[in-house]
Amino acid sequence: MSVAKIKNICVYCGSRVGTSEVYADAAKALGSGMGERQQNLVYGAGSIGLMGIIARAVTASGGDVYGIIPDHLDAVEITQSGLAETVITENMHERKKLMFDKSDAFIVLPGGLGTLDETFEIITWAQLSLHSKPIIILNIDEYWTPFLTLVESVIEKGFANPSVRDLFKVTTTVEETFDLLDCLARSDDKTKSHLF
Ligand code: AMP
Repeated sequence: MSVAKIKNICVYCGSRVGTSEVYADAAKALGSGMGERQQNLVYGAGSIGLMGIIARAVTASGGDVYGIIPDHLDAVEITQSGLAETVITENMHERKKLMFDKSDAFIVLPGGLGTLDETFEIITWAQLSLHSKPIIILNIDEYWTPFLTLVESVIEKGFANPSVRDLFKVTTTVEETFDLLDCLARSDDKTKSHLF
């Protein structure tokens, strides 16, 4: 797969900004870098929290943003204006399916329970061999270390195969994340999907 094949990247992240500025800084840097690299953002269409910050950063640096939001969250997450494309879905299931279908890779930034749900879902779909698209957890400022510790504990206690560690990659900086994306894009075809 060529680098150009990782064109649309789904970023899961919080609808809040969190307690440290480093989270917003990472969202901004990731979004700006994506736009500069002609990579597009697929996300939940909100204008609030890290979601809004990354969307505006991608747009400002020349990338396209595809926002996908269910009808009932339109007012709650305050749909971002000026996106290249906004799709209003009937429900969360349709939203997640469209986000999955449109994306060549997934990156996880800090976020709350919604982000946790999305992250576990995309990893467990990979565990079930429903897809093999790259999943990168950007462990900025150790935000996701408790998550990684939980996964290790699950493996240690015999409820998951150690091979689940291979279902996702972990980076600690935005630069490292782009390097990894380039590396993954140059390697095998990671975008095969048998989902739905
Ligand atoms: P959060 O991380 O809770 O701030 O949510 C980030 C995004 O995840 C929001 O756009 C939520 O709508 C979305 N999300 C995805 N799945 C869920 C879920 N099961 N429950 C709540 N939010 C979800």
